[in-house]
Amino acid sequence: TKSENNRTKVALPQGINQITFRTAIAELRDRLGEEHVEFVTKLDDGWYMENPNTHDGMHVSDEDDFVASVVVYPGSTEEVQKIVQWANSYRIPISPISIGRNYGYGGAAPRVRGAVVLDLGRRMNRILDINPDDCTCLVEPGVTYFALYEEIQARGFQHLWVDVPDIGGGSVLGNALDRGVGYTPYGDHWMMHCGMEVVLPTGEVIRTGMGALPGNNSWQLFPYGFGPTADGLFSQSNMGVVTKMGFGLMPNPGDHESYLYTFQKEEDLSQLIDIIRPLRIAMILENVAQLRHISMQVGLEGKPRSFYYKGKGRVPDSFIHEAAQKLAHGDCSWLYYGMAYGPKEIRQYKLDIIHKEFMKIPGARRIDPSTLSADNYFWVRDRIASGVPDIEELRWVNWHPNGGHVAFSPVSPVRGNDATALWDIAQKRCEEYNLDLFPTFVVGLREMHLIVEIVFNRDDPVMRDNARACLRGMVDDAAKRGYGEYRTHLAFMDQIAGTYNWNDGALLKFNEKIKDCLDPNGIMAPGKSGIWPARYRGRGWEM
Ligand code: ADP
Repeated sequence: TKSENNRTKVALPQGINQITFRTAIAELRDRLGEEHVEFVTKLDDGWYMENPNTHDGMHVSDEDDFVASVVVYPGSTEEVQKIVQWANSYRIPISPISIGRNYGYGGAAPRVRGAVVLDLGRRMNRILDINPDDCTCLVEPGVTYFALYEEIQARGFQHLWVDVPDIGGGSVLGNALDRGVGYTPYGDHWMMHCGMEVVLPTGEVIRTGMGALPGNNSWQLFPYGFGPTADGLFSQSNMGVVTKMGFGLMPNPGDHESYLYTFQKEEDLSQLIDIIRPLRIAMILENVAQLRHISMQVGLEGKPRSFYYKGKGRVPDSFIHEAAQKLAHGDCSWLYYGMAYGPKEIRQYKLDIIHKEFMKIPGARRIDPSTLSADNYFWVRDRIASGVPDIEELRWVNWHPNGGHVAFSPVSPVRGNDATALWDIAQKRCEEYNLDLFPTFVVGLREMHLIVEIVFNRDDPVMRDNARACLRGMVDDAAKRGYGEYRTHLAFMDQIAGTYNWNDGALLKFNEKIKDCLDPNGIMAPGKSGIWPARYRGRGWEM
């Protein structure tokens, strides 16, 4: 579905008048070339493969709440520096994106309406290095998982894998900066990064780790270098524009084998999570675990909700289970997708342990992959867990016409009682706001994220309001019990930053101090992750 909104009035950044703005943009065009600076005069939500860089294509409030005034396309680190210097001279807010997909978390949109979006993806999309001996790469912001995967194939490096997230159209660098995950043993993208180049908010460029030592040959090998490690300051932050980033690439393990287990009862969740914990920490479960609720599996069929249920309120569980009976693996409450790596004798040792442990749950079933057709979702997970990018995942967004989605993403220990507590919070709030929920537990190593996707109709303001209120409610309920989110949509960043408030908000104060020091004019992505520069702070921007 597409919505197009033609607008003649450009959203100006607050505090800048029309004349100054036009002068500033004319100057930017002079510096960068006319064709690399575009006014935002049209909003088109597009779809995944044609994602907008002007606003949030999955907007959970009005389409032009979080909207850019202008999009600028730098072609090099030097051009990024020029733009940053320009922004300082006019005090115009700028907001960097790589590809700008970031679906469910705000897409390409700036937090501050009227900011200038720096779209690094269009022109800065070179793979600067793939080192087949060290198994590393160095990429610019515009390199997608698809592009990196294809280049590795083209160069014949069969021994190298890329770790890919659920959908492969995003930026390798952007996903890592926002601390996204993938599904090989290299699934923690931030952990696997090594070395960055960053343009600071005042225009200086730094290289982190070994990159600070001229003539080094270990920038992508040792992330720490010497002294304090600065890298964390540039993740989920507004302290700089990252222009290069290195990563470790996983060696091809030689062979791999996906498995799927189903569990019958909703209450099995608690026992199952307690079984998963020691297996995951010991890496018997080798990749980031995907434990999905059956509702999400039904959603993946790609049919609208009205196909299953015409009533109001949440779709009753009985309708979901009835639909699930028609799926290849039959009805159940939870599905565990995993993969074992390496040659048969190595895999089998682990698979046997997993089987023995999972089968302790009454009614547990191992689904035989040979019974599943080639278009079964199982093979999507199989591709993703073996480093092949895919785009099937978002099929559940069709649940509502003109569907959008937003995620509640709390972190907890891998414990049955925590899983149950979060599951209860999500269900109660979704019940209260008449929203269906699509939950997946994603087990990192010692922690898990519960990802609850809420799908809504982008054209239905009541449903959007409900989705926002529901998210806010879940965030509050979770915080009261000691759970915080790992990532969030622009609309909830202040609320969530506010929940990380130990010792009278000491962490946020520390971030603000660094922000004011690095970005005295407050031009870089104001408000990202709840961090506001001094001249915005306490002036009604927080929401
Ligand atoms: P993807 O398309 O992979 O989902 P995005 O390009 O949308 O990722 O990036 C996700 C978020 O990370 C952005 O909203 C932005 O806050 C931040 N980000 C992305 N690229 C950069 C960058 N090069 N420098 C600084 N921050 C960035």
